[in-house]
Amino acid sequence: MTAGTEVCDSRGEEGGTTGCSRQGSPGRLWDSVKKAAFVIGSGILFLAAFGNSLTWHLQRFWGASGDFWQNLWTKLYVAFEGHDEALFYLGTMFAPTVVFWVSNGVLLIADTTGKPNFITRYRIQVDKNNPVDPEKLRHAVKTVLFNQVFISGPMVVACYHLMSWTGDPCGPELPTFHWALTELAIFSIMEEVMFYYSHRVFHHPRLYKRFHKQHHEWTAPIGIVSIYAHPLEHVISNTLPVVIGPVLLGSHLTTASTWYCLALVSTTISHSGYHLPFLPSPEYHDFHHLKFNQCFGVFGVLDRLHGTDAKFRQTKQYERHVLLTSLTPLSESIPDHPKKGQ
Ligand SMILES: [Zn+2]
Ligand SMILES: [Zn+2]
Repeated sequence: MTAGTEVCDSRGEEGGTTGCSRQGSPGRLWDSVKKAAFVIGSGILFLAAFGNSLTWHLQRFWGASGDFWQNLWTKLYVAFEGHDEALFYLGTMFAPTVVFWVSNGVLLIADTTGKPNFITRYRIQVDKNNPVDPEKLRHAVKTVLFNQVFISGPMVVACYHLMSWTGDPCGPELPTFHWALTELAIFSIMEEVMFYYSHRVFHHPRLYKRFHKQHHEWTAPIGIVSIYAHPLEHVISNTLPVVIGPVLLGSHLTTASTWYCLALVSTTISHSGYHLPFLPSPEYHDFHHLKFNQCFGVFGVLDRLHGTDAKFRQTKQYERHVLLTSLTPLSESIPDHPKKGQ
């Protein structure tokens, strides 16, 4: 599949039409690259600022001195001396799983009870999952747990051996903060490329029904649907694009752990069904679940390159695909059907 060719995608059983569109102009592609660079860059700047100010507060109020993060790591390193593998699993298995279930726990309360209102008023597909179907939810939770225990778990074990071969993940010295941020940017680009193409392949009519349709049972997704998928899809599209970066770069455990947590929070937000203020916009992937044949990537650069966002760009959802910086829900400020006189 190359740029400039016409692309046609399979479609799901509900909604959407067969998507055939041509590549966007180079100017538009550049625009999209700039947007992705802005998203990755601002994320990294935020992390840098957050890291610096957290360090400052901890050093000032908790009396920590010297290199705070290095000292913290040294303590952990000494406590686990000789048990590198346990330390590795704590960082790459336990911590991301806790982050996933805590963030999804909050969302599940909103999905099942319709409360608190300060979350549910930001629902993207306003008439869906209000409340969520308990039977469908139970099935999704079981599948997610299966994928975490039987797919992600063994893959993390494999990663330990691969990363011990390409680097020293539990080494005594932390990477510099700037190198860790550079790695996070590289991981994001790798994920975009691998997720986009593997996801497109799963939409091929010969593969869609057997492997990817399960994930698309949710036309209005909720947070945990991010890893509600067929096991093969969970390996190829969900896990490999995320773990490949730290393995290839021989990253430190702390960078890999941070990246896994960020990736899980990011995909949870993309599937959450709520466009909340000051969080990345989930409109892109929510639209993919609604229409099936648009918006296959994470940042949208490759969708622009291959013209797979052409229909999305003509919708209200595209107008709402911004960082919400006010408390007014976008479904109200940009309604589907503007009131008369507007
Ligand atoms: Zn999805
Ligand atoms: Zn899909």
